[in-house]
Amino acid sequence: ASALAERMSWVKESPSSRVADRVRAFQAAGRTVLPLTIGEPDFDTPDHVKDAAIAAIRAGETKYTSANGTPALRRAIVSRLLRKTGQSYADGEICLGGGAKQLIFLAFLATLDEGDEVVVPAPYWVSYPDMVALNGGRPVVVEAGAAEGYKITPDRLRRAIGPRTKWLVLNSPNNPTGAVYSAEELAALADVLRAHPHVSVLCDEIYDEINYGAHAVPSMVTVAPDLREQVFLVNGVSKAYAMTGWRIGYAAGSARLCSALGTLQSQSSSCPSSVSQAAAVAALDGGRDFIDRTVGIYRKRRDLLVSGLAAVEGLRPAVPEGGIYVWTDTSALMGATTPSGAVLASDTDLAEHLLDTSGVVVITGDSYGCPGHFRASFALSEDVIREAVAGIAHSISLLR
Ligand code: PLP
Repeated sequence: ASALAERMSWVKESPSSRVADRVRAFQAAGRTVLPLTIGEPDFDTPDHVKDAAIAAIRAGETKYTSANGTPALRRAIVSRLLRKTGQSYADGEICLGGGAKQLIFLAFLATLDEGDEVVVPAPYWVSYPDMVALNGGRPVVVEAGAAEGYKITPDRLRRAIGPRTKWLVLNSPNNPTGAVYSAEELAALADVLRAHPHVSVLCDEIYDEINYGAHAVPSMVTVAPDLREQVFLVNGVSKAYAMTGWRIGYAAGSARLCSALGTLQSQSSSCPSSVSQAAAVAALDGGRDFIDRTVGIYRKRRDLLVSGLAAVEGLRPAVPEGGIYVWTDTSALMGATTPSGAVLASDTDLAEHLLDTSGVVVITGDSYGCPGHFRASFALSEDVIREAVAGIAHSISLLR
């Protein structure tokens, strides 16, 4: 067998897949499990999207496309970006990937030399630091805690920037906290970036349509159009249109970066699936009905989960402004004793206690670089959410 490359020792399996294995083991033992770990919409892909994919198959759209996708999809992306940001991107300023995740990976591969730094505010989406490390970079984790609304402040950003800093990663709406950067907050960060033109910002806007605010989620390019060349805007169809399995993400940025990503795409996967591309056109051009309907449903679930958790002593949930997760402060429970006499000393201890005593599964805060918390998803029916809240309340009532 071939020996593995050294880089494999820098990455770990994603915590959600680790938890999924635990859940399967519990279910196999006949126990009921309430998985608040779900990281994707529980809705089915809309019918008009599926129909477009079937029509594409029948029409023979089953061959390789350009690495940057079909002209129809690039047009749909350009007009979506214009609607969202007010910026008109040229064809060469768009790139396509097998999910936003692949685009983020390729962006780091294309830009990081050994030892280059990437500023990652914590709590962070679990994949950013590993993707940076895999591509030779060094993640510089900067705390963005409850006191700052889980957002990196201009001052902390300024202090984290050094001569080797290539990127700031900004994820709004945020996974796991649900925080959304306001236009004013983005403008203040833009001031820092303007003073450091060697630093670009990767804006991961994958949850932008799952938004509970009165206004659209602001984008860095709208707030600071002069920084357009410094902004790499990443999005996709996974979350907004319940299309996680179709694997289509898109990005907009400088023509130089997009062309580099096209080269990497052409030498690694050739192109994303042609059938999924046809489906993504139908999604992006298909109006807002699906989004409006599902966000209405998510909002009710969010309110149910937040109010349920807030009523449990020792839990402090943050109200998410976007996305599908509730980030909950559990620090008050550390040091408590379980009925079996064990003392809760870590996020994992608490998660194990919840699983053992009520079958509820959450993802531990330390996975996101921020111990003393858990992330609970509400991409679940209201019945499951109610049952899970009752389970959590029961488990916590057992602590002394
Ligand atoms: N970015 C964040 C913050 C996410 O939470 C996810 C998925 O969980 C992704 C990107 C990946 O999205 P995609 O399905 O487009 O690869």
